[in-house]
Amino acid sequence: MNLIQHFVNGKKFLSNSKRNGKIFDPATGEQKSQIILGSKLDLDNAVIIAKKAFETWSQKPPIQRARVMFKFKELIEKNSDEITKIIVSEHGKVYEDAKGSLQRGLEIVEFACGIPQVLKGEFSENVGTNIDSWSVRQPLGVCAGITPFNFPAMVPMWMFPMAIACGNTFILKPSEKDPSCSMRLAELLTEAGLPNGVFNVVNGDKEVVDAILVNKDIQAVSFVGSTPVAKYIYENAAKNEKRVQALGGAKNHLVVMPDCDLDQAVNGLMGAAYGSAGERCMAQSVAVAVGNVADNLVNKLIKKVEALKVGPGMDKTSEMGPLISKVHLEKVKSYVDLGVKEGAKLIVDGRNLKLQGYEKGFFMGGCLFDNVKKNMKIYKEEIFGPVLSIIRVKDFNEATQLINDHEYGNGVSIYTRDGDVGRTFANKIKVGMVGINIPIPVPVAFHSFGGWKRSLFGDQHMHGPEGVRFYTKLKTITSRWPSGVRSNPEFIMPTMK
Ligand code: NAD
Repeated sequence: MNLIQHFVNGKKFLSNSKRNGKIFDPATGEQKSQIILGSKLDLDNAVIIAKKAFETWSQKPPIQRARVMFKFKELIEKNSDEITKIIVSEHGKVYEDAKGSLQRGLEIVEFACGIPQVLKGEFSENVGTNIDSWSVRQPLGVCAGITPFNFPAMVPMWMFPMAIACGNTFILKPSEKDPSCSMRLAELLTEAGLPNGVFNVVNGDKEVVDAILVNKDIQAVSFVGSTPVAKYIYENAAKNEKRVQALGGAKNHLVVMPDCDLDQAVNGLMGAAYGSAGERCMAQSVAVAVGNVADNLVNKLIKKVEALKVGPGMDKTSEMGPLISKVHLEKVKSYVDLGVKEGAKLIVDGRNLKLQGYEKGFFMGGCLFDNVKKNMKIYKEEIFGPVLSIIRVKDFNEATQLINDHEYGNGVSIYTRDGDVGRTFANKIKVGMVGINIPIPVPVAFHSFGGWKRSLFGDQHMHGPEGVRFYTKLKTITSRWPSGVRSNPEFIMPTMK
């Protein structure tokens, strides 16, 4: 059986931790690997190495750090088929979707290639007589990233290319459900010329996470995962004096206005609700049908959800793959049971789907609920599966109020032909990422990614300009040469004369 170890100081590394986890192929339901679940000692040893590597890496000119990123980008492109297959084999999502998610990660590496330009500081000549002042952004030290199962390439790549390009060293603790992609990326970084110890992968679960939170030499923690864990990370990292950004769960709404291009909205919803089996933090799991559009919307959706092609990720005809695990499959199905009990109308039921040859795989079909109400648990909680809820409202104001009252605020979309409605929506809605006739408004690499409310704890979004701010600290220098104006001791607050 394949054993997944750690990657520390430029090589694979086997710890003496006695704890192991199981990695499954979600399409077959069979175990394919074992993973070492690291210990506090493993993490602390990796931090010692990363701290040492920081001394030289942080002093490298940004252009040299950028060159490693350029090479890394080439290597990802060259190996993209292999990496994509790793994602499919451990996560289950369909090949083209997995490839797209790798591409979105690659775009962060492309942004990081421009780090010398982005790190340029500010300079003011003569802020006082013969006095100059300038600001620079310097790296923090050892940074850590803790990532979820649903994007094994893209989410780690929101973090480490930015952190490393800024001059930090990095410890990644990927999801223990699909860690192989991170291990392969670590090898490619080494091949790209990244010095040993700058990027390290410590595999594990809560034990490694807790070790990250208390390690005094870790300066900053980036987290992406569910909201209860995000809150825990935020509170404990801050308590231990670390910089922290902790992105949590979501319940995203797509508002369908009566004037919209309905076929476009339906196609947008299908991809956004059922793509990646709904296991996306930007999945649209609630369709808000405004006014008289509801019946038409429901009729069009029913046909499409019933026709969804569910199958293994490597089958080119599959539109939706399996869920990540048996436990998660049961959890999603139990939410569908609950919705029925709560009184929502289940108009497409995918709970009993069985695929010939893949009977043990973690598959279910798409589910569609109509007449969902805002007090129901299936509306309030994140399901993270292929379940779309339709909620009917009378007008635009009721739609925006509903969304603004929800505890999550990750992504949202509106479909309309009315520019005024689109603009008002973008202005008033309390959500971090907004789409207008765009189903999944994930910002590109040179903007930043992040939600509002209980979808993000902390002050900075990820990657792009916010990523640079998160992974650097500001220093402002004020200077005068001794040959300038001579002065006597001054006991008053200096002002610029
Ligand atoms: P998760 O919270 O279970 O796990 C995330 C990470 O935290 C993993 O590395 C895991 O090992 C660790 N972890 C889990 N339980 C822990 C605990 N009790 N203490 C310390 N560490 C713990 O999330 P998941 O199931 O892997 O991923 C799905 C969740 O991630 C969904 O809620 C989804 O919305 C969210 N997500 C959010 C975004 C975003 O950008 N906001 C992006 C992707 C996923």
